[in-house]
Amino acid sequence: MRIGQGYDSHRFEEGRHLVLGGVEFSDECGLKGHSDADVLIHAIIDALFGAAALGDIGSHFPDNDEKWRGADSAELLRKAVAEVRAAGYEIANIDTTVICEQPRISPRIAEIRERLSQIMAIPVGNVSVKAKTNEKMDDVGAGVGIVVHSIALLA
Ligand code: MG
Repeated sequence: MRIGQGYDSHRFEEGRHLVLGGVEFSDECGLKGHSDADVLIHAIIDALFGAAALGDIGSHFPDNDEKWRGADSAELLRKAVAEVRAAGYEIANIDTTVICEQPRISPRIAEIRERLSQIMAIPVGNVSVKAKTNEKMDDVGAGVGIVVHSIALLA
């Protein structure tokens, strides 16, 4: 068994679409980023690469590479899962915590888990997404952006 931890944060930016865990939040302000800025998927990718000791998201998909501009993070996650499987591992489970004041994530959690399980080709019961606010503390609590923590277990 191998365990990995992932973390990511992105600031909100006007004029961007919000995508979290591959699910569109069409009425919400999006996040700044080189790719589609899917902060939840980025944290999961880092947990997976971390568990397999395969580096990090930046070493696989550099954010100064035009190839990844506007990239669909679901596609990056598919590639990351393929690399982890090629290294001989299977995903046992993923757990995540999304931290932001807005939008409210909890009504969309079932949909996000379903989407993530499809992208990674693992049972939805092996994908956990939890959401909370930062109780108005610090920049995340002031609504500056979204932070995600993730853990992945590989077998
Ligand atoms: Mg990121």
